[in-house]
Amino acid sequence: MRSVTILGATGSVGRATLDLIERAPEGAFSVVALTANSNVQDLAQAARRVNAQFCAVADAGQGAALADALSGTSIRHGAGPDAVLDAAQLPADWVMAAIVGAAGLPPTLAAVRRGAFVALANKEALVCAGPLFMEAARKSGATLLPVDSEHNAIFQSFDEDHRGGIRRIILTASGGPFRNASKERMAAATPAQAVAHPTWSMGAKISVDSATMFNKGLEIIEACHLFDLPDDRVDVLVHPESIVHGLVEYADGGLLAQLGEPDMRTPIGHALAWPARMETPVKRLDLAQLSDLSFHALDDDRFPGPSIARAAFRAGGCAPAVLNAANEIAVDAFLNGKIGFLDIAGVVSDALEQAQTEGFGARAPNDFDAVYAADRQGRRFASDTVQDRLQSSKRA
Ligand code: NDP
Repeated sequence: MRSVTILGATGSVGRATLDLIERAPEGAFSVVALTANSNVQDLAQAARRVNAQFCAVADAGQGAALADALSGTSIRHGAGPDAVLDAAQLPADWVMAAIVGAAGLPPTLAAVRRGAFVALANKEALVCAGPLFMEAARKSGATLLPVDSEHNAIFQSFDEDHRGGIRRIILTASGGPFRNASKERMAAATPAQAVAHPTWSMGAKISVDSATMFNKGLEIIEACHLFDLPDDRVDVLVHPESIVHGLVEYADGGLLAQLGEPDMRTPIGHALAWPARMETPVKRLDLAQLSDLSFHALDDDRFPGPSIARAAFRAGGCAPAVLNAANEIAVDAFLNGKIGFLDIAGVVSDALEQAQTEGFGARAPNDFDAVYAADRQGRRFASDTVQDRLQSSKRA
């Protein structure tokens, strides 16, 4: 029996993980802890269904509501960010890190530090703190299992024992809802249009990231850390069908790839059973029915996100943490109608420029406190830029 904890259990990845656990044969998994931000009802219902030992909400104001929702059970509970940390520290063998954003870094790190098997969906943790995070995993002996579909595909195709034969890796991108849209249409895009992803069903933040392709930028940085590669050996190809998730190119010209329906339960199932395999209810690929698989180069002009992210990764220091923080603020501002879709890239670039001007981004973080400081600073720079843009749009 594998004991598991799910950080971000009420989100898209968290629910898909619960779905697999609940379908698994009796006795395959026991659930130690589940966490959410504020969605007390779904959290409590899930905890009752899987008989979790402990539940936590990050929103301290929801503690009483959680106690209420769990009344009559023996499930222990807590509220506030420390309670989420407590959940991560409980001795589960396997932890799904599926909190969205940099908020996922402290609990994911807590699971890494105690040497757990950590299924990593929360790419923002690696983007913000890559070298320190990987070092923490090396020190504790934690096993990082990539869950992002592209990284999971590469993890399965990457011959770690013969790295010298690997030339490059390729992350595929669906192209999102605006793959063929004109810049005029993108400028006028609404939040509802931006979150309507053509192939994947995901939470709001990553859906907007997919529409801007900042998601691919974050994934390039994630891949560099996970597979210890420079960014010029991490390529991106637009592949609208989302069937080939990632590829590894070898010295002999061969490419190894992993294919599957665009359903997160395949990579989650891979990580959940690793190193074995488990049944999932995912629709099987019917290769005879797949007449067209297409691949295209990225259009940098309409989708500058990946280039901006590459530049931040090359700049090093705190720049990736600033990039991630600014993107979170910009996506939130877009979803709340404060800025337009194309302003997201502008806000991120402005924040990075400001960080560079103030000499902030260049300093390499010595410890996680420096990462958290860079995150706060990135949020401040980006919030100021959003305010400036709001004021000038009101004046216009
Ligand atoms: P969702 O928005 O669907 O879910 C986010 C989860 O995190 C929810 O459980 C939410 O709780 C919780 N949460 C939000 N803010 C906080 C906080 N401040 N503290 C603690 N918990 C918090 O996100 P997704 O499931 O789509 O994505 C999760 C992560 O996985 C992201 O990093 C994303 O990039 C990555 N990922 C997602 C994929 C997908 O298919 N969805 C694919 C590949 C990677 P509540 O419900 O209470 O708000």
